[in-house]
Amino acid sequence: MTQPSQPARSADVVVIGGGIHGSSAALYLAQRGLSVIVLEKDSVGRHASGVNAGGVRRLGRHLAEVPIAVRSRRIWATVADFLGDDCGFEVAPQMRLARSEEHLVAMRARVAEMQALGYHHEVMIGTNQIREYIHSLSDEVVGAVACLDDGFAQPYQTTFAIHRKARALGARFHEGVRALGLTREAGGDWRVATAEGDFTAPRVLLAGGLWSGEISATLGEPVPIIPFAPMMLVTTRLPPFCNAVVGAAGVPLSFKQMPNGTVVIGGGRPGRPDAATNRAETTFHPLRLSAQTCISLFPIMAEASVVRTWAGLEAEMPDQIPVVGPSLRHEGLYYAFGFSGHGFQLGLGMGEIMAELIATGATDVDLAPFSIGRFTGGAPAY
Ligand SMILES: Cc1cc2nc3c(=O)[nH]c(=O)nc-3n(C[C@H](O)[C@H](O)[C@H](O)COP(=O)(O)OP(=O)(O)OC[C@H]3O[C@@H](n4cnc5c(N)ncnc54)[C@H](O)[C@@H]3O)c2cc1C
Repeated sequence: MTQPSQPARSADVVVIGGGIHGSSAALYLAQRGLSVIVLEKDSVGRHASGVNAGGVRRLGRHLAEVPIAVRSRRIWATVADFLGDDCGFEVAPQMRLARSEEHLVAMRARVAEMQALGYHHEVMIGTNQIREYIHSLSDEVVGAVACLDDGFAQPYQTTFAIHRKARALGARFHEGVRALGLTREAGGDWRVATAEGDFTAPRVLLAGGLWSGEISATLGEPVPIIPFAPMMLVTTRLPPFCNAVVGAAGVPLSFKQMPNGTVVIGGGRPGRPDAATNRAETTFHPLRLSAQTCISLFPIMAEASVVRTWAGLEAEMPDQIPVVGPSLRHEGLYYAFGFSGHGFQLGLGMGEIMAELIATGATDVDLAPFSIGRFTGGAPAY
């Protein structure tokens, strides 16, 4: 534990990245009494964590992610008290629509698999029940798999609320400060070089989203991050017709109507990412496909106009699950990045788990499937 006399540029842990994952880990580390410095090259929540669709979804998670998503959902339930900000969190069903018997067969198999593992939050629902939540629905829809108590939140508000609480607990954020490289000092501490001078700590968490691979590669752990720029669009206000966050089998879609009547549409249609310039450009043809999908599933959408579009920069891993856990080459180095388009919901639970791992050296959550070793090979080398 750090003493009060600790120099301003030293801490128990340096976190690289002020997105939801870095900020959340900083919060939970500080809550455990550790001193934390967070380095953010731009501003907190500037990238994926501030501009995502806000889906709080356990539905359809990779099996390895399910325990983390479940843990996160428990924290989401108390988020207003915990963070002193409701984060715009609303409980609502997340559902994935089926348009064929083949879709239904796959969904039933998934629900059965989840039940066999002891998870009961995913259920099949029929068209009558779907229509209770969606009042303008295509007759093509034949059923859905749903998680009735998932929801959505405001991404920027959430990431900022986490940041505020982390700061209130003593975490020190340095925005506009880019970690340029890491070296180990003779005494075992990490030295993180920046243009503003060096920062030192015995432990470092790399939570740098899309840019994480630049640093992990210099430490002998290269990862095949695929730059990804998922796009979003928002429409004019419509009368209330949808009280669910809706996806669909066989087509990229994330669809929800906000309390103010606007409809927010995403689902992972890609724009053009450019990590070097921090830019994510929208591309119109895929956005048009998104709009067409919406009109075909929800007839009322033919009345809507698009008012705004954007894209965010995200790190996608080839197997669609993040890199989480200790480095296999360096003691005191930890990773949490590569959330592949679905890391917002996980942010709170993941931060708690990373803090537990970093502070105690262990966690009861199985992080083996997320090991960086699946790309670099090998077992821990220390
Ligand atoms: C359009 C869109 C829609 C999405 N919708 C959803 C959704 O509905 N539900 C869901 O669960 N997820 C969703 N996601 C995914 C989710 O937003 C991300 O998985 C999550 O925000 C990743 O958080 P992060 O902290 O890992 O990364 P980021 O938010 O990218 O944060 C990483 C931070 O690290 C900083 N950084 C990087 N390198 C350095 C360095 N060397 N020095 C200092 N700082 C550095 C960056 O500037 C950045 O701010 C969506 C993503 C996008 C883009």
